[in-house]
Amino acid sequence: MLDLGQQILDTAHINRDAGDFVSIRFYTSKENAIMVRRGNAEDVSSERLEGVAIQALINGAWGFASVGGFDAGDIRETMNTAIKMAKGMSSRVKNPAKINTEWAFEGKNEFSHDLDPADMSFEEKLELAQKAEKIIREYDSKIINSMSRFTEKVQREEIVNTNGTRVSNDYGIFRLSGMATSRQGDIIQNVSDSVASSGGLQSIVDWDLDEKMNALAKRGVDLLDAEASPTGKMDVVIENSLVGVYIHEAFGHGSEGDAILAKNSNIADQIGNDLALDSVSVVDDPTIKGMRGSFAYDSEGTPTEKRDIIRDGTLVGYLNNLTTATMLESGNTLNGAGRATDYRHMSMPRMGHTYIEQGEMSFDELVQEVGNGVYLQNSYGGYVSPVKGEFFFSSQGGYLIEDGEVTRPIRNSGMSGLTLDVLKNTIGVGNDLMIDAFAGVCGKGNLTGYQPMPVTGGGPHIAARDIMVGGK
Ligand SMILES: [Zn+2]
Repeated sequence: MLDLGQQILDTAHINRDAGDFVSIRFYTSKENAIMVRRGNAEDVSSERLEGVAIQALINGAWGFASVGGFDAGDIRETMNTAIKMAKGMSSRVKNPAKINTEWAFEGKNEFSHDLDPADMSFEEKLELAQKAEKIIREYDSKIINSMSRFTEKVQREEIVNTNGTRVSNDYGIFRLSGMATSRQGDIIQNVSDSVASSGGLQSIVDWDLDEKMNALAKRGVDLLDAEASPTGKMDVVIENSLVGVYIHEAFGHGSEGDAILAKNSNIADQIGNDLALDSVSVVDDPTIKGMRGSFAYDSEGTPTEKRDIIRDGTLVGYLNNLTTATMLESGNTLNGAGRATDYRHMSMPRMGHTYIEQGEMSFDELVQEVGNGVYLQNSYGGYVSPVKGEFFFSSQGGYLIEDGEVTRPIRNSGMSGLTLDVLKNTIGVGNDLMIDAFAGVCGKGNLTGYQPMPVTGGGPHIAARDIMVGGK
């Protein structure tokens, strides 16, 4: 495909000396999804996509066009459409986009897997999802809704552009999750757990469903007898997966280069500023093998690398694609963050695998440091405004902390406040890093629509002072 792309690129009527740029991205994917709810298989689907995305930058304006299939004539016509669109827009652009035309990459990444998804039948995958849901459903009559979901996707991107990039990148993502809703009188509780990978199905097959799904259902039922969460400002210990969600949603989105460029972020123009305790370092590292949020090359053909965002409390970098790395004045390292969900979308800066690095305190020391407050566990959705830096996250449950000890369980809790306040008010970072505590789907859109993206996140337990606690 790369040679076909190159031949088509060679016919593009553009002015390379003036900085014009065109990329052609060939995309194929196979995706299966199975959802089982209350004993029934629902939403069983299989999708195969094949097509080409073309991004053209002419006179500072972007044009984007896509086409299904790999017909050479169609691709050439689509490229010309993208170029025409960009030319048409160029007289109206207020802040002309630029790409450094020196950046060119060559490489090939093959999908390396433990258990090949092709070696497991659809029936076996369905059975896994059915077994997970059945264990949850049969645990207790207080479980009023039980659900499991299996998803898998294997994709290939082949990218050529007028800078000279030639990259082929294979990639897979796999996830199995269980969800339970329990009820007693007016009290309703939602809990979930999942296992995910980008390296094949082995970790999913090895997930002990009897143990994990019984524990999940038990957590949901036990929480019904927990006391209501206290509310108000207090000191907290935050569990690993909630740390992962917080650092992704409340902080990570603000570090994406397009948000910085548009000044839609509370951390724009803050490179070099101290934003957190010295012991806090935040990174996004898609190079860690096997994680759901890991990948070798982005959708623009740039190799990924470990990106430092906060190092020892200081803001040091942003997540960039070709455009933002060219246009930003600081924090502008090109670091392979330009991702697109499929060929129907333009790439933009996205996270991969975001986490807070390991600290030095034990869990007991964090609890003692807090003294009196709450221990919040497991996120269940939330809300973030990256511009204002405000957030709210529900917690699936937690415990009171009294006189330096974890005591009685609490339910329907959550945390809210200003993103940077949490980082500034961090009083301890744990030594129990769980690097993939949160495996989710990140939502973000651009001119070409909403693009769900697989991500992972995590961190150690952290302790923070004066956090607004309570359910909503
Ligand atoms: Zn997100």
